[in-house]
Amino acid sequence: MFKQGDVISYLDMCRAEGVNLQRGMNFRLRGSFSVILMSLRQGAPYADRIEENGRILIYEGHDIPLFKDGPKPKMVDQPEINPGGTLTQNGFFYRAAVSYKLGEKEAEFVKVYEKIRSGIWVYNGLFRLVDAWQETSNARKVFKFKLELLDEFTSINGIETTDIDHNRIIPTSVKLQVWKRDKGKCVRCASQNNLHFDHIIPYSKGGSSLVADNIQILCARHNLEKRDRIE
Ligand SMILES: [Zn+2]
Repeated sequence: MFKQGDVISYLDMCRAEGVNLQRGMNFRLRGSFSVILMSLRQGAPYADRIEENGRILIYEGHDIPLFKDGPKPKMVDQPEINPGGTLTQNGFFYRAAVSYKLGEKEAEFVKVYEKIRSGIWVYNGLFRLVDAWQETSNARKVFKFKLELLDEFTSINGIETTDIDHNRIIPTSVKLQVWKRDKGKCVRCASQNNLHFDHIIPYSKGGSSLVADNIQILCARHNLEKRDRIE
């Protein structure tokens, strides 16, 4: 199980999910969880954004696939239903959010992974799908999904505690700045394995998620050592 902020490879991610992840949106991938892949880099195809200081992710739905001689995906409405009448991924997530809002179902649990550069992914945490709507963007309809970050629960000596140090999403621009500055290595030992985006001053002690000055890269060992010192 990954921790929020863990740096992983595409293979790690696929291994953890038990499938080759190809699509950005994966409703109920294996039973109870859904999986969303996001990419906020410049030139990324969808307008995802982080709100409320890192608690809320607004994820944009997906366009029609690109077909030879077909319409340009960015020129037509994002579809809820496939030509054959089945639901698209937009449709599955949208209906789950509507059912939740009507009180018919529990909120859908969604794991979110983010690609920060080629081959390098970050686990952004486990979210609840709490809302969805359609809005007009460049004269066409797009879906928007509102995902709320769950607090992580860790078991220390059998007691469940909320790991509030890590319950904020670090914006992509900050992740990229830190990755570049720390050269993709642990700042203590230069390890390139099992890396994690760490808040230097924990969020719970007033440290910000929004500035690179408060974020560093640590390997699993040094992350654990630091955590033990703080607690
Ligand atoms: Zn280290």
